[in-house]
Amino acid sequence: MSKRDYYEVLGVSKGASKDEIKKAYRKLSKKYHPDINKEPDAAEKFKEITEAYEVLSDDQKRANYDQFGHADPNQGFGGFGGADFGGFGGFEDIFNTFFGGGSRRRDPNAPRQGADLQYTMTISFEEAAFGKETDIEIPREETCETCHGSGAKPGTKPETCRHCNGTGQISVEQNTPFGRIVNRRTCQYCNGTGKEIKQKCSTCGGLGKVKKRRKIHVKIPAGIDDGQQLRMAGQGEAGINGGPAGDLYVIFHVRRHEFFERDEDDIYCEMPITFVQAALGAEIEVPTLHGKVKLKIPAGTQTGTKFRLKGKGVPNVRGYGIGDQHIEVRVITPTKLSEKQKQLLREFGEASGSAPMGDHEESFFSKVKRAFKGE
Ligand SMILES: [Zn+2]
Ligand SMILES: [Zn+2]
Repeated sequence: MSKRDYYEVLGVSKGASKDEIKKAYRKLSKKYHPDINKEPDAAEKFKEITEAYEVLSDDQKRANYDQFGHADPNQGFGGFGGADFGGFGGFEDIFNTFFGGGSRRRDPNAPRQGADLQYTMTISFEEAAFGKETDIEIPREETCETCHGSGAKPGTKPETCRHCNGTGQISVEQNTPFGRIVNRRTCQYCNGTGKEIKQKCSTCGGLGKVKKRRKIHVKIPAGIDDGQQLRMAGQGEAGINGGPAGDLYVIFHVRRHEFFERDEDDIYCEMPITFVQAALGAEIEVPTLHGKVKLKIPAGTQTGTKFRLKGKGVPNVRGYGIGDQHIEVRVITPTKLSEKQKQLLREFGEASGSAPMGDHEESFFSKVKRAFKGE
């Protein structure tokens, strides 16, 4: 998957000033914040915007990016290192940086839950109906096993950042014509973590987390429907400062079936029958999700007649019984007739006269006749 250019993501030029970058990010992050924007790809877009801003707002990171692009070896995994996206809880914090409020300070050492992950799984119609067990592989951030998440080389400990005294923020006083203003900004020495790691863990490079492709066993419940999701608690990304991991949401996309249609637990289908079967009655075989089933067609069946096979639908996903299968028959008018068949039909026609036969249709045809006569 190729990453989009960070300047392109924020919609700014390569020579954009810090102010322009901040303005662009402020506008876009407001628009795509998952707490505000409910479109399905909003979270993804928001992440992309935040990542782009993280890099372009930092002089050193921006210089590296301009030189190396996304290949920058110092950038860590996807360049999304220190940013907190845990359960979208970072909302206040992200906006406080810009909107001046700033009164809500966060303890950078407090445990926070890891980010939730989403995985879309496409399954067949039958798999949705009967369930299935399968393994999926997801890339996720896990706590580094070497340093147990501290980021420090085993045997050493992260120390409190001397520059911010562990608060992760630095106050800058500024004299302006309106008086003295105190601005707080993220401590650039510890990137807001409040910790200083003198000897970094060699496995994770001091991040405390490692990106892994993890195999996860998924039990798809019987009766799951298109668009439904399964929450797997604790299978998301690793927590921060010993917080719990996020959750994994598996969203199901169910492929259409060429013959069956589904509405909740019921199955619908159309069955073609010949006009001879319709007139004389017949026993036909109907495919169901549970195998072939014999269906009796009574003599004189009209096209569009509906039949129901009880219990031949989809098991309810919450275990409340099983749906039915509904069958609508279509009487097919033959199109390719042999000479012999045509002859037989002509004789049949002569024997029956011009009007169709059937009690309930007599009145219908007399209405048509009257309409022709203008009665
Ligand atoms: Zn480590
Ligand atoms: Zn610091």
